[in-house]
Amino acid sequence: MHVASTAQSEIRITLEAFVALANDLAAGELDARSTLANGGFSRASGASAASIQRLSTRLVSLTQLVAEFPECSTEEALARVNEELTELPITPSIVAHDGTGPHMHWTPNTATFDDQVIADLVMASAQELVENGTIRFGRCAAADCERLFYDGTRNRSRRFCDDPRCASKTHTADHRARRAGGV
Ligand SMILES: [Zn+2]
Ligand SMILES: [Zn+2]
Repeated sequence: MHVASTAQSEIRITLEAFVALANDLAAGELDARSTLANGGFSRASGASAASIQRLSTRLVSLTQLVAEFPECSTEEALARVNEELTELPITPSIVAHDGTGPHMHWTPNTATFDDQVIADLVMASAQELVENGTIRFGRCAAADCERLFYDGTRNRSRRFCDDPRCASKTHTADHRARRAGGV
């Protein structure tokens, strides 16, 4: 991850990518390369086909982790992430490159892209849970939508996934219900 200027926004961007990957997989339309490129992973576009293939397979089980966060307690989530951490090969270093301030990399430049992504997703989850618990992970409030979101708003006011139709159709339904109720 190289885009964000602070550790906190880097964690947010990584978790938004994690949630997007989980939503893509749940919908049966995973395209890890483009989702990660859009999510600020600078190596995504140049990653080998073999690495993308391995990553896609590994994400099937790893995205189940983030999919559980909205409904499970912080304690349960921490235990699950701790299991992932015991098997995570990381080599942390502090780097500054491409005009960014100093930030952490969890894997060396020689790591395969899939190893880098898995390490970034697990470490961002661990840091988030230690800092905020599971409270920022949610599920879309629209009636027919199960998509996950990560709520990066300051006052945790997010209710819908990133599909703009979910917010607009829910507001329309609320409005009709109020009118039907004579309000
Ligand atoms: Zn970086
Ligand atoms: Zn939705």
